Amino acid sequence: CRASIKLRKTALPHYNISPSPKKRKAKRFWLNSSPNPSASSERPTLPNLSFPHTPPTPAVTMAAEQSAEHFRGQARLPGFAAPRRYDLRLTPDLAACTFAGSVSVSVDVAAPTRFLVVNAADLDVSPGDVHFAPKGSGQVLLPVEVTSALEDEILIIRFNEVLPLGEGTLVIAFQGTLNDKMKGFYRSVYELNGEKKNMAVTQFEPADARRCFPCWDEPSFKAVFKITLEVPCETVALSNMPVVEEKVNGPTKTVYFQESPIMSTYLVAVIVGMFDYVEAFTADGTSVRVYTQVGKSAQGKFALEVAVKTLILFKEYFAVPYPLPKMDMIAIPDFASGAMENYGLVTYRETALLFDERHSAAANKQRVAVVVAHELAHQWFGNLVTMEWWTHLWLNEGFATWVSYLAADRFFPEWNVWIQFLEESTTGFRLDALAGSHPIEVDVNHVDEIDEIFDAISYRKGAAVIRMLQSYLGAEIFQKSLAAYIKRFAYSNAKTEDLWAALEEGSGEPVKTLMHSWTKQQGYPVVSVKLKDGKLELEQTQFLSSGSEGVGQWVVPITLCCCSYSVQQKFLFRGKQDDFNLSGLVECQKKDDFWIKLNVDQTGFYRVSYDEELASRLRHAVETNILSAADRYGVLDDTYALCMAGKQKLVTLLHLIAAYKNETEYTVLAHAINTSLSIYEMMAVAAPEELVNMKKFLIDFLEPFAQ
Ligand SMILES: [Zn+2]
Repeated sequence: CRASIKLRKTALPHYNISPSPKKRKAKRFWLNSSPNPSASSERPTLPNLSFPHTPPTPAVTMAAEQSAEHFRGQARLPGFAAPRRYDLRLTPDLAACTFAGSVSVSVDVAAPTRFLVVNAADLDVSPGDVHFAPKGSGQVLLPVEVTSALEDEILIIRFNEVLPLGEGTLVIAFQGTLNDKMKGFYRSVYELNGEKKNMAVTQFEPADARRCFPCWDEPSFKAVFKITLEVPCETVALSNMPVVEEKVNGPTKTVYFQESPIMSTYLVAVIVGMFDYVEAFTADGTSVRVYTQVGKSAQGKFALEVAVKTLILFKEYFAVPYPLPKMDMIAIPDFASGAMENYGLVTYRETALLFDERHSAAANKQRVAVVVAHELAHQWFGNLVTMEWWTHLWLNEGFATWVSYLAADRFFPEWNVWIQFLEESTTGFRLDALAGSHPIEVDVNHVDEIDEIFDAISYRKGAAVIRMLQSYLGAEIFQKSLAAYIKRFAYSNAKTEDLWAALEEGSGEPVKTLMHSWTKQQGYPVVSVKLKDGKLELEQTQFLSSGSEGVGQWVVPITLCCCSYSVQQKFLFRGKQDDFNLSGLVECQKKDDFWIKLNVDQTGFYRVSYDEELASRLRHAVETNILSAADRYGVLDDTYALCMAGKQKLVTLLHLIAAYKNETEYTVLAHAINTSLSIYEMMAVAAPEELVNMKKFLIDFLEPFAQ
């Protein structure tokens, strides 16, 4: 989850980022030779190959001529070596706020090279602390040079000889600081019996595992993790997997965790501190715990209940069991975002996990349910099947957000969470109606660009377009295709297109073309509807809040109900303008209370503008409470937006607001009141002479609710 979204007020970024020739700093360690800063610029001579079975092929010759400079200024690590298994040992010192560690990585060398390149940042790696042992050779190779390229956050490890192809073990010892920046391996402060204490916590997404241990810190380099912690005896030590053994040695203990399935580095987690917990089990025996500060475990009960139910629901929804033996969720006092979906050990800001029946507001309860469901959804969508690269982060987050509402709605139908989803989509709608908006799917070249590219548009619109697709394809087809996708890419990585392909296969609909028009293009349309000679006439125009017309065009999934919700019609509207002959339309039109609503339950990311006749019919349907709450919300929201953009008359909007005089749904009513107030504020500036009438209108509208 990357829930703390900075709303950009001005200056949207440019997306054609050209590589800037930054000055790169380097820290260099010289091993087995005297420091010679000019050596790396000299052309290296061919080394004597120490492995007689590796003849000097052209590839080997090329490898021998590689220089450390090849690896600088690159967005991604070279692919000639990949990790298979990490044996990671960490010893945090909670009092001194430092840590020592060692990592032993089984590496697969796939192409001839004299180098190993790994990510590392803010770590001290001493000369002599790095070595590589090719499997079965009985040899230990010491590097001739270990360069820390600070700007690139990599260690460039150079050996004298070309490494043999196949498996080997890279061992690195290192030291670091438990920082207070809430990323990497950091400290969080809590109080125990009136005394301030430090806990050690990790937060690695997107690229801060490298601040805790040297690693291939990219989502597609999945590997097995075997973690061991050396910690004070009285503390609780947690990681992704359950503890298999604890050995006490004086004031400290060594805690050995079970080996993980293959996973990405950004999902690794380690926590050391003093905690209480509450525990429950799913029907198939998965232990679920909520860890809190000592004495606060009762506040974890609600999240625990939700988590158990959610794991059961998602097992069914994704048609794959929860992949790990346990699920721990923990509240951290100092936390940068809302929550983080670490595999099997989810971390939360306290307000996103804890609920106090006596003191917390009801809205908190909903937040806890939605955030817990979001993080647990990632255990499948994100952790089991992981994005190949950060370009697909929008899908990871958009999907988890959408499905978290699905879960919350299933467990707490009385909350009407889909209307809250609409409220939250408003930010996406508003920002995406500006000429300076941007598409939600943008290529991420360098990990530094993530924060620049992903904002409220990406997340809100991302979740909204997934909802639109699901509603159009239908719940069952969507779920089945999704399950097939999860099965196909489990323990692996996938791109956005892989999901579209699975949905296309399952539905027979042109999902890729449809979705590209929404994810690779900024903005959204307003669909204008007219009824003429028993036919539906549709026209689409890009909606811009300035009132001007954009040039965008979309493949719009139209859903439509006519006189009742019992039959829903669906079709794709691809052109600029088109006529549709709909079955039942003519008969329906003869009815006294005829109405037609496009974008049923407001599941689509577009606005609808009706001709006068249809608008008046719809207004009547609002007044008589025939429309669903989401549609009552949507009709008002669309009319308000169109009116503000100068596309509809203010009197039409006021007339519509009056139709909400019998509104019973809180969120819809709140929207009607807020809309009225913003019109009032606007008129105070633009047409003060009309304020008296407006005031009277407002009083007439609001009075019945006050009684
Ligand atoms: Zn998320």
